[in-house]
Amino acid sequence: MKIISTLHNHCTLCDGLSTPEEMVEAAIGCGFTDFGMSCHGYTPFDLPYSVESEESYLKAMADLREKYAGRIRVWCGAEQEYFAPLKERSSYDYIIGSCHYVLDRETGEHIDIDGYDSEFARARDELFGGDVYALVADYFQNVVDIAERQRPDILGHFDLISKNNGDGRFFDEGSRRYRDTALAALDACADTGVVFEVNTGAIARGNRSVPYPPLFMLKRLHERGTKVTLTSDCHDRRHLLTGLDDAAELLKQAGYRTVLMWENGAFTERPLD
Ligand SMILES: [Zn+2]
Ligand SMILES: [Zn+2]
Repeated sequence: MKIISTLHNHCTLCDGLSTPEEMVEAAIGCGFTDFGMSCHGYTPFDLPYSVESEESYLKAMADLREKYAGRIRVWCGAEQEYFAPLKERSSYDYIIGSCHYVLDRETGEHIDIDGYDSEFARARDELFGGDVYALVADYFQNVVDIAERQRPDILGHFDLISKNNGDGRFFDEGSRRYRDTALAALDACADTGVVFEVNTGAIARGNRSVPYPPLFMLKRLHERGTKVTLTSDCHDRRHLLTGLDDAAELLKQAGYRTVLMWENGAFTERPLD
């Protein structure tokens, strides 16, 4: 399978390690026709890991597109945090909708479920009285809300809540309770027609050995006819393609024969072989 584009990519304008130019050069080196940048949208409680402002990001991306015109098509996307929606949505070529936090409704604090084990445990204990499955349910409810109300083009790392759960240390991913909650949320999201990403970012960063979402969820998505696209959630130019071949194999195991790739401003369906 020839990968000609990916849409979930970060750079030094948010929390990436590589400059915008380094990322685009890497994409050219991989033979991409199209490259989408999707920096974290302005999130006041996540600075300096989100962009400084929407205006500065949009300007930087317009300059980048211009700089590489004729060599590769550069697209301006954003990874929108559920708790910090973009103001200028129509200025972006596409939006990835993601949830990286849980909200403490009493204090207004956003607790990171995309970071340290200690924060995950604090969210579980302080907000849900130690009931990890209540935390899981709250997370998935937020993801459903993203799909139903925020209407992104792509749903980001659907089961990010499992990031800290590497060896099952917080909950049992094979349990009925987890699977029922996750699959009910998956069905509700799939009903909206949103494109799911198969995201290998945590593999490059050593957090996981399988992409988001895992095989049992991919099978369900395939049964439902949901379209998927491959992304590496890349924060480092060296990892633009990391895990994507394995993710494609996993998709085939789930029954998929095609995948969506972004080409000249729209998704096109491409064979996995
Ligand atoms: Zn994310
Ligand atoms: Zn990301």
